[in-house]
Amino acid sequence: MANPLFSDREVSFQLYEVHGAGDLCQLPAFADHGRETFDLFLASARKIARDVLFPAYRPMDAEPPRLEGGRVRVHPAMKEIWPRLVELGMTNATRPSEVGGQELPVLVAMFAGGYLSAANGAATAYAGLTAGAAHLVEAFGSEEVRRTFHEPMISGRWSGTMALTEPHAGSSLADVRTTATPMPAGPGRYLLRGNKVFISGGDQDFTENIVHLALGRIEGAPAGIKGISLFAVPRLRPEDGRLVDNDCSSAGVFHKMGWRGIPSIALNFGERGDCVGWVVGTPHQGLGHMFQMMNEARLMVGMNGVATASAAYHESLEYARTRPQGRPLAARDPRTPQIPIVEHADVRRMLLKQKAIVEGGLSLLAECARLADLVRHGPEEDRERRRMLLDLLTPVGKSFPAEAGFVSNSLAVQIHGGYGYTAEYLPEAWLRDQKLNSIHEGTTGIQSLDLLGRKVVAGGGDALRALAAEFAAVEATNEERAGLRAALEKIAATTMELAQRGLAGDRDGMLAHSVDYLDAFSVLVISWQWAKMAAAARRGLERDRASADFYRGKIAAARWFFANELPRVSTLCDICLTDASFVEARPEWF
Ligand SMILES: Cc1cc2nc3c(=O)[nH]c(=O)nc-3n(C[C@H](O)[C@H](O)[C@H](O)COP(=O)(O)OP(=O)(O)OC[C@H]3O[C@@H](n4cnc5c(N)ncnc54)[C@H](O)[C@@H]3O)c2cc1C
Repeated sequence: MANPLFSDREVSFQLYEVHGAGDLCQLPAFADHGRETFDLFLASARKIARDVLFPAYRPMDAEPPRLEGGRVRVHPAMKEIWPRLVELGMTNATRPSEVGGQELPVLVAMFAGGYLSAANGAATAYAGLTAGAAHLVEAFGSEEVRRTFHEPMISGRWSGTMALTEPHAGSSLADVRTTATPMPAGPGRYLLRGNKVFISGGDQDFTENIVHLALGRIEGAPAGIKGISLFAVPRLRPEDGRLVDNDCSSAGVFHKMGWRGIPSIALNFGERGDCVGWVVGTPHQGLGHMFQMMNEARLMVGMNGVATASAAYHESLEYARTRPQGRPLAARDPRTPQIPIVEHADVRRMLLKQKAIVEGGLSLLAECARLADLVRHGPEEDRERRRMLLDLLTPVGKSFPAEAGFVSNSLAVQIHGGYGYTAEYLPEAWLRDQKLNSIHEGTTGIQSLDLLGRKVVAGGGDALRALAAEFAAVEATNEERAGLRAALEKIAATTMELAQRGLAGDRDGMLAHSVDYLDAFSVLVISWQWAKMAAAARRGLERDRASADFYRGKIAAARWFFANELPRVSTLCDICLTDASFVEARPEWF
């Protein structure tokens, strides 16, 4: 097929020339691996993505799941896809061998996820959710919980979900109301009752069982987030060697604009008073435990954003190279042949912007994934600094690919002209898919509050200082270095001013422009990634003339980003410091 969806050359450049995937093998945890094993894993992911997942993408989008007789039926293609994802290792790739994992770096597993998500994000999400749920059980579950739920999930016999959202508690998880009553049957078991909404993969018909990792409140627990506990709630519960109905009912399937290959359902626990949940971890600390899965999922959402934008970028690139329309500006004679639209300056601008977003976003996710590997397996003395950087970058890694990715997907439609607006061409479907990424796993608004209200101000600005040190280590050109330094200084001064407003008790004055702040911060961080890629490209050009076009394209995209995007940081910072009187606009004024 002409569209690679996710470029092999780009993957190899980012992994080995920019983000040092090979160096990770020097860590004891990855000593059994080498570039050969990484490449084998990635080649298998690529093959499944292109041969199995992508052919099912359109049919799954056209025939979304439906509720029949109280059960959700998904597209039959999932019966073929699921075992392939499990066999590849997408439920256990990064876990240690003691628990049946392949001990691969998060960096490598994440790029494999990129191939799969670009081909069929909805199908890939079932595996991501199951891996995250199994990891929660592994990290926090009692011996009984691990014995009961872990192996069935990583072996793919059962799938997993995250069941957080309730009709009145979406962004505000502190308001979760699902109740849990201790059971006399055994410590750690509770009877659950409550209503969840939007639960992805909450019901389907291709695994024997489904385990919901659900948030609830044990009777008598304090209000707010300090009273939330985490439970494993299976659809069928093991009892006397059998699986029996556990009173989790599918109350409805949402009809969605995108991600139509995976159901998002309304799920009721305990309508008959017979829904058993096993507490996972420490009672009342469930939200803290859940953050492990949420942070993993945020980066997976970021990768889905990049992958969805990547598929559309390559589609529009191919279209632009082959669609003849119009003539050069200087051509006066209408009898001269039309030129492919890629020759027009504005089409090149759109392609360059797509390239800058896709590859810049991918590089940021690689940075985050490598940090996740080093936090777990790197030298002890550097783990805290890396954890701080990962925490700082996670809201950007989630929201930049979602927001800029949507712009990029929209450009793919634009490049296709009128055809792009029709359902006959793929960019329309990818644009619908991309919209979800700024909503689920914490909306962009919530990510911005996390960044400005918590992450940048934590430790009196330690994380920002750590980031500045990372910038200084890049072999940037003088121009890039000056641009990065000026933007960082502007962000640092803005952060300090906003933090002072917060300290003075003016939370609105501090946070009213948090999304603009996130935007500015994202541009800065992506510029840093482009400086890193440009440096690697300059080295590559000296070494490998056969790849000269690839490297020149990198340098051109970096130059474009620095010239067209980095200047926005200053204006956005000024906006962040304007008065926040719009917050006082009364609802009736709108
Ligand atoms: C297709 C799909 C799949 C999903 N999958 C899952 C899943 O598997 N599991 C699960 O648990 N949930 C899932 N969700 C739920 C998702 O996480 C929530 O929709 C999301 O967190 C937003 O919650 P909400 O819809 O209630 O919107 P609200 O919280 O009502 O937000 C509405 C708007 O108000 C803004 N807002 C809210 N609070 C604030 C605030 N304090 N400050 C500033 N702005 C604010 C938001 O940014 C948003 O723009 C899914 C949702 C969708 C659409």
